[in-house]
Amino acid sequence: MSFRREKYIPFGGPDGGHGGHGGDVCLRVNSQLNTLVAFSRRRHFIAENGVHGGGSRRHGASAPALFIDVPAGTLVRERATGLVLGDLTSDGQTLVVARGGRGGRGNEAFKSSTRQTPRFAEKGAPGEERDIELELKLIADVGLLGKPNAGKSTLLASVSAARPKIADYPFTTLEPNLGVVWIENRDFVMADIPGLIEGAADGVGLGIQFLRHVERTRLLVHLLDGSSPDPVADYNAINIELARYSERLAAKPQVVVVNKIDLPEARARVDEIRAALGLEEVHAISGATQENITPLMWAIVHRLDELPRSEEPLEMPVLHPLELREDTSYHVEKLEEGIYRLTGQEIERLAAMTDWFSDESIERLWRIMVARGIATYMANAGVSLGDTVFVGDHELEWQ
Ligand code: GDP
Ligand code: MG
Repeated sequence: MSFRREKYIPFGGPDGGHGGHGGDVCLRVNSQLNTLVAFSRRRHFIAENGVHGGGSRRHGASAPALFIDVPAGTLVRERATGLVLGDLTSDGQTLVVARGGRGGRGNEAFKSSTRQTPRFAEKGAPGEERDIELELKLIADVGLLGKPNAGKSTLLASVSAARPKIADYPFTTLEPNLGVVWIENRDFVMADIPGLIEGAADGVGLGIQFLRHVERTRLLVHLLDGSSPDPVADYNAINIELARYSERLAAKPQVVVVNKIDLPEARARVDEIRAALGLEEVHAISGATQENITPLMWAIVHRLDELPRSEEPLEMPVLHPLELREDTSYHVEKLEEGIYRLTGQEIERLAAMTDWFSDESIERLWRIMVARGIATYMANAGVSLGDTVFVGDHELEWQ
């Protein structure tokens, strides 16, 4: 609220500008992300407030939208209702999940022929607050391959930032062990492929569904037990089995890793194994002591960056996002004799925007209630003059 105050202009008119709008909270697809693991650290997001309006009709600036990055394939639901708000699939796609409040209007806006000097301004509308659930169709980016006892489970457990909750997994007999790896601002999903080899190529053990899932990984990490009698023979045997099992899998690029170098006999053989494999890059790690784990994880991230995305599209259901609109319905509840509570999204917002220290502002709220039919509705519900009515955080005497 502001009035013009200038020399030689004794009765300046109202000149309070509007407040800026609050920022929206939006989700945005970032194709660099593969998981929702970042949300294990942070779950509350608040956009900024708009800037207050000022005198001389200065309007406050609106706050920028707050963008929260999510991976492609994220399904967004409102927690309370389970309604789907959006299905985010393509890079850069955005979805507003909570709108910022509208800025309040300055007192200049309330000037009329009968009210030359409005001594109130509107408060800013409260921003929307919403509890949402994010769900992601996980595709493992990396498959862990190796003989039984190579140390696959140990490695996966030691690098996993999260064990995703797996819903409706299409294969139940042999659940793949999925882990989310999180390294600085990068992430990927790694699947332990247990028992791939034992009888798998003959159709025993793993279901065809599981094969399909594993076939969508982009990179295989081939783990060798450095303490095994002949790690190179293990490597060759696994690759032969793999080719029998699935040509597509056998064609995937592999990162080869000698594990268990905490054991002296394993460490002593690393160079020999490297030479025998004749590969450019062979990592040497210990899943047990974590030695060289971070460089290995970065090597995986860099390899993934070079590889194309899964060629098959994500099998996401086609959904029609619900449009979020303000609910203009209202409802009155009798708490006790002479005391009522009026509820409704719109009316509660209007009450929050009212300046309760200004009779004019309160009067304006009454006029809106009359215009909306709320006054009649309240009278029909038995609310009479002098009764107490709660609206949001406010209490008013019915007039
Ligand atoms: P998987 O069959 O490939 O899943 O192998 P596991 O992770 O179950 O490990 C098999 C055995 O090797 C277990 O006894 C582990 O404790 C052991 N192991 C796994 N990683 C290491 C390692 O880095 N160093 C040593 N010394 N032992 C390991
Ligand atoms: Mg295992």
